[in-house]
Amino acid sequence: MANRRMTKVIVAIDGPAGSGKSSVSKAVAAELGYSYLDTGAAYRALTWAGQNLEGFSLEALESANLEEIFDYQIGIDPSNYFVKVGAQDVTLAIRSGKVAEGVSAVARIANVRQYMRALTRQIAKDTSAAGIVIEGRDITTVVAPDAKIKILLTASEEVRLIRRSAELSNAQRADLKRQVIERDASDSKVVDFMTPAPGVLLVDTSDLNFEQTVQTVVSVIESGIANKESND
Ligand code: C5P
Repeated sequence: MANRRMTKVIVAIDGPAGSGKSSVSKAVAAELGYSYLDTGAAYRALTWAGQNLEGFSLEALESANLEEIFDYQIGIDPSNYFVKVGAQDVTLAIRSGKVAEGVSAVARIANVRQYMRALTRQIAKDTSAAGIVIEGRDITTVVAPDAKIKILLTASEEVRLIRRSAELSNAQRADLKRQVIERDASDSKVVDFMTPAPGVLLVDTSDLNFEQTVQTVVSVIESGIANKESND
């Protein structure tokens, strides 16, 4: 029993752009006292490096030893989120339109996906928290298919666009619509993050506000843990 309590809880959350999974995952982790790992940030940081640093190019990424050349750090405390490449803080830079436009092509490279899978598993293993919420596109299916709790967070395309564009001008909104639709289409060629795999619970947030979504996910996790403990 003591042993079981000490086992780290892995919560895997996948979802498309604009599903709210980053902010929801972070809030859920904070509420449960877990670590929070944003896996998209590593793909974005690598894309940023490819666009800004010497020694990185799309072709080079196909065979590069990323463990050696990509000096990446991410904050996994939900109240201290940051992303760094070398000494440079890129937390904001990786949210630019230019990075968003380039990231799907980087995420398609097999060598990159293999490195990201190992990196994510290592970070999850290293955390000393009671649990970790890992969010991305292929966490429930490829990175952590054995996670104790697996959730696919979705929202209708319309709702996702509204959420993303709340603070933009009309021109930016049109751009964003194109970008989100194109990125989903491009990403879904690599991983199917729209259909829940067996054992993955679908949470549709189209009709839920942020707080309701967080509470729904927290209840899913708590009841999932209770169910598994009573079955063990
Ligand atoms: O979640 P976010 O929008 O920050 O992810 C950025 C990009 O990283 C996605 O569009 C996708 O191309 C890639 N990604 C991925 N697998 C993950 C997380 C992100 O391919 N687990």
